[in-house]
Amino acid sequence: MSYFIYARKSRKDADLEALGIDVLERHITTLLELAKTLSLPIGAIYREVVSGDSIDSRPVMSQVMAEVESCMWDGCLVMDVDRLARGDTIDQGRVQRAFFYSNTKIVTPNKTYDPANEYDNEYFEFSLFMSRREYATIKRRMQRGRERSSSDGYYVGNIPPYGWRRVIAPDGKHFSLAPDPTESPVLDLMYDLCGNKQYGYQKACTHMAEMGILSRSGRPFTPSTLKGIISNPANIGKVRWGHRKTVRTVKDGKISRSRPHSSDYILADAVWPPRISADLFQRANHPKGSCSAPVRDDRPIQNIFAGLVRCSQCGRLMVRKKAHTKTPYDILICQYTECPTVGIRIDELELALLEWLRNYIDKYELTDALPEDVENVAAKEAIVKNFEKEHETLLKQRESLFDFLEQGIYTKEIFIERSNALERRVKECMEHIISAQNDLHATLALQANRKNFVPRCKNLLGEWGRLTIPEKNSALKVLIEKIMFTKTKRNKKGQDRSDFEIDVFPKVPK
Ligand SMILES: [Zn+2]
Repeated sequence: MSYFIYARKSRKDADLEALGIDVLERHITTLLELAKTLSLPIGAIYREVVSGDSIDSRPVMSQVMAEVESCMWDGCLVMDVDRLARGDTIDQGRVQRAFFYSNTKIVTPNKTYDPANEYDNEYFEFSLFMSRREYATIKRRMQRGRERSSSDGYYVGNIPPYGWRRVIAPDGKHFSLAPDPTESPVLDLMYDLCGNKQYGYQKACTHMAEMGILSRSGRPFTPSTLKGIISNPANIGKVRWGHRKTVRTVKDGKISRSRPHSSDYILADAVWPPRISADLFQRANHPKGSCSAPVRDDRPIQNIFAGLVRCSQCGRLMVRKKAHTKTPYDILICQYTECPTVGIRIDELELALLEWLRNYIDKYELTDALPEDVENVAAKEAIVKNFEKEHETLLKQRESLFDFLEQGIYTKEIFIERSNALERRVKECMEHIISAQNDLHATLALQANRKNFVPRCKNLLGEWGRLTIPEKNSALKVLIEKIMFTKTKRNKKGQDRSDFEIDVFPKVPK
């Protein structure tokens, strides 16, 4: 986002004009100088050549209003506020409201008006006549305008939803969706299974796997992907908005971003026709027996690995199969029948994990920093520095852009073009710096936390023999994120050690 310059003649300029001075160009030069001083990126220069009093009689102003109302700009540079609206109080109010609700600043050589600042009331005096509540609603509605205007029934994602492919919309500027020849029949089948036949998600997945139908990743559909696909309103010709807004929260002084599923979203009619009827959509998304198995907390956990071990072939959690007469010991299996993973005796896996813990302690107990850690940190620091240097160079270029303009090397048109290109690079560079810094900090935190992890592992190993199964499970869950398990060969007769691998992910806080 950047700023625009709005220049317009007023009656008091007539005397200067009479002396042959181009007032408009003088104003633009002054405002460009102001932009340079305040280091504001300029994205456009608007000149009003028509001298009408009302907004509607000024074509450039009408466009400016539309852009401000759709929250396109950070701010506007203008010689003084009354160049924007003059005379007519209704127009004045309209301009004030637009800037206020879209949170667009007005920068003049004398003063910067920031709508977010409550005390800029001399400028937003009309606010006195409106209730707080009215403000809040209108403001929210207008600021949503940005996301809405870009998404008015068009598809804005990069990857089309399952069953669809992305096509250019009739307006030639946006994207729409059209049925994908191979995926759309599968989509119909999904709705038939879950909606008409009232299959549960797992049953529908198994059914499709048996038919040899695979997802885009080339693997069988899982209940959660299936659920995600059939609950997508794109299938009934709707666009969902604000469903997973990025929410920024400050925690321990750091900003963290999350994308929670929100119930407060907008459903708009899409530009593509629905493929699935609303009725079938409803039925498929609310299958009759659709209650997930209740979590039983009355019974103690009987598997030390409950919720910890995942199958490396399909990524699912592995579950305990109780001992019975044929196999008199508990085994951990991947429940998914199509999966090539072979089960493992839980006691055998337990020994392997204890061995992993011992090795981990040996490796990290005595060393302060491993050579590869030092190298890793140095490399990441270098990346951050490089981006910071690039950023500095770009800022210098911003200054020379203004110089070129002043020296007449650039025309204003070229200046705007270059300035926009430069601002994009500045923004990209900032993003690179932030992500490189995050990466570096994560690495440092990881290394620091690994040190704390060792004594806790030692404690656990010391106590292991005295712990009950639920205690072992909860202790492991404190220390370990997950264990990926690989075993695809069955044991031969009489083989007492299985051929398997574990990949343990320690829970080192980031
Ligand atoms: Zn599996």
